[in-house]
Amino acid sequence: MAPLDQPTSSDTGVILTETATVLHGVSREDAEAAVRTLLIWAGDDPNREGLVDTPSRVAKAYSEFFSGYETDPAAMLSRTFEEVHGYNDIVLLRDITFQSHCEHHVVPITGTAHVAYLPADRVVGISKLARVVDAYARRLQTQETMTAQIANCIDQALLPRGVAVIIKAQHQCMTTRGVNKPGVAMVTRTFTGAFDADPAIERRLMDLINT
Ligand SMILES: [Zn+2]
Repeated sequence: MAPLDQPTSSDTGVILTETATVLHGVSREDAEAAVRTLLIWAGDDPNREGLVDTPSRVAKAYSEFFSGYETDPAAMLSRTFEEVHGYNDIVLLRDITFQSHCEHHVVPITGTAHVAYLPADRVVGISKLARVVDAYARRLQTQETMTAQIANCIDQALLPRGVAVIIKAQHQCMTTRGVNKPGVAMVTRTFTGAFDADPAIERRLMDLINT
């Protein structure tokens, strides 16, 4: 782990610095004061030893959890390759783990995404698909929105014959509070083009995911 006063690079390529004092028009002091207010609201004393640095840590954690706002997912897909020697079948990156936060309670959503596309005339470096997942995950999200955003981004950037995104995730707002149902997973999918229109291609995709 990097020393705290050094810039750190998250794997979305965003540089986060301890010294960032204003982010999106809010000063670091105001952000920390808001955390302090929530600690009091929760019933604790923000001045006790264990909590005295917590507002600062939470502010820094937020800049990591929500670093997706600093990214441009479409730009991540801008470098494409056309020389694929006639390869024209499904490209699938499966079991991409991600962490996000629900926009209703700001608690974690953790899960895995399968991202596939059927190339028309170009492909991208495979790691870029995982970066796009992270770019959208590191924002306040609903799973439905995130699923559609990933699919639409790939669809518009690569103009493929189809895109398929399947996300399976656990929502802590449901497993640790509210209805309190541990172990429940939510599954969402967005299919475009051939994945949506051709049941045989959809079946091939599901076979690849389950192999
Ligand atoms: Zn929630």
